[in-house]
Amino acid sequence: MFKSAANKITRSAKSFASVSSGIVNPSSAFKVLCVGAGTGGISVASYLSKNLGEGKVGVIEPSDVHYQQPLWTLVGGGLRSFEITNAKMSGLMPKSASWLKSSVSSIDPENRTVTLDNGNKISYEYLVLAPGIQLDFDAIEGLSEALGKDGVSTIYSPKYVEKTWEFIRTFKKGGNAVFTMPSTPIKCPGAPQKIAYLADDWFRDMGVRDTSSVSYYTGIGKIFGIDKYADSMWKVANKRNIDVNLSHDLVAVDPLTKQATFKTVGDPKNSSLVKVKYDLLHVTPKMKPVDFLKKSSIVNAAGFVDVDKETLQHKKYPNIFAIGDCNSVPTSKTAAAACVQGYVVKTNILDKIKNSQNPANLKYDGYTSCPLITGKNTVVLAEFSGYTGQPIETFFYNQANESKFSYWVTSSALPSVYWSMLTSGTWNGPANFKKVFNPLDSN
Ligand SMILES: Cc1cc2nc3c(=O)[nH]c(=O)nc-3n(C[C@H](O)[C@H](O)[C@H](O)COP(=O)(O)OP(=O)(O)OC[C@H]3O[C@@H](n4cnc5c(N)ncnc54)[C@H](O)[C@@H]3O)c2cc1C
Repeated sequence: MFKSAANKITRSAKSFASVSSGIVNPSSAFKVLCVGAGTGGISVASYLSKNLGEGKVGVIEPSDVHYQQPLWTLVGGGLRSFEITNAKMSGLMPKSASWLKSSVSSIDPENRTVTLDNGNKISYEYLVLAPGIQLDFDAIEGLSEALGKDGVSTIYSPKYVEKTWEFIRTFKKGGNAVFTMPSTPIKCPGAPQKIAYLADDWFRDMGVRDTSSVSYYTGIGKIFGIDKYADSMWKVANKRNIDVNLSHDLVAVDPLTKQATFKTVGDPKNSSLVKVKYDLLHVTPKMKPVDFLKKSSIVNAAGFVDVDKETLQHKKYPNIFAIGDCNSVPTSKTAAAACVQGYVVKTNILDKIKNSQNPANLKYDGYTSCPLITGKNTVVLAEFSGYTGQPIETFFYNQANESKFSYWVTSSALPSVYWSMLTSGTWNGPANFKKVFNPLDSN
């Protein structure tokens, strides 16, 4: 169903042939320039280009493929095919936007220009940054060499996600299955444990669970950031006999001896190295800001774009906005968050451009969501504000309980909404559904 949904979109995007060298002619400079056409960028670019008309919105995006990354957990867990997670970028790119198929290599906020990797400079009136976060395989010794072979994989990369399922389904002799989560900020902090629960479920079906150990090592000090859902995850892990090790950060992988080395990070004065034998190793790589942002003047000390957490507007340059995994706001980096942030930004920018007499002045409240897949048909549907730590649940039932309905929402409803509404700029998050399905909740 999703494959056909993705493939049905066959419109070809207009490439921006006139941008061939140097700075673009000021008359063709963009009213709004979006950097990145992933989850956040495509939804903003689609909405604004529809509302502003031809030639006003430019999109800089190097990739031929758009990935619906949240589905990769289900691909690694053997429940969906990889094909349904990708669509041609040319088919999704909004018709009235100008696609510059290139990467940004630097930004000059004073002169309102970005430079592409081919040296061209592009100017803008408003800039929306959405280039995501990058995987840093080299930050873990031996990982790059180990990946894709002898049981080592990651669902975080399109290159290795199918390997995860291959290694799970061929784990026929059982052994030590080890799952890791790093200490750095990452996208979807729930995915590193979701894949452990899916593997555990399959190992039980395959009859190898009794002769295997399943362990989860996390570089942070909690199983999940929000207490309500953390309590549920402890119950799930204990019930399933999954050995959870907090404050253990993966620092090295040795594919020859099949050993993973963790540094204990709970007490900085007393850290030690712990070596663990593995037969299957699922690694969540460390992550870092994309290079052009890291070296720019618009980021905080950690390299994330320094924006106001409510308006998502840069603290020094008010015509620059940043959404999704690249920004500094203190909430979990997810597609759910990127989408709601995009809603705030696209609405407020359009109001400014149209000089609205009645601007919405939307503010982002830290909403994010992590569907914690706990098995082949159950999910703990975490939805909360990273700003307040309070749940913001769309449905009337207690979403901290494992639920088959939540699984259906995660595995069927949301993927469909992603291709049909999010990429065309008409999905603004679940707030309106919440008014219908959980009207009494005041959060
Ligand atoms: C395994 C996995 C499971 C996940 N599960 C969930 C989940 O269940 N729920 C959820 O809400 N989220 C989930 N996520 C997270 C979610 O996919 C991301 O948070 C979301 O895609 C972030 O959107 P973004 O627009 O910031 O970045 P992305 O969607 O990553 O898009 C970034 C875009 O920028 C482009 N780009 C990069 N560098 C440049 C450059 N220099 N110049 C121009 N363009 C550039 C890239 O090509 C890309 O198209 C998951 C992610 C993974 C990997």
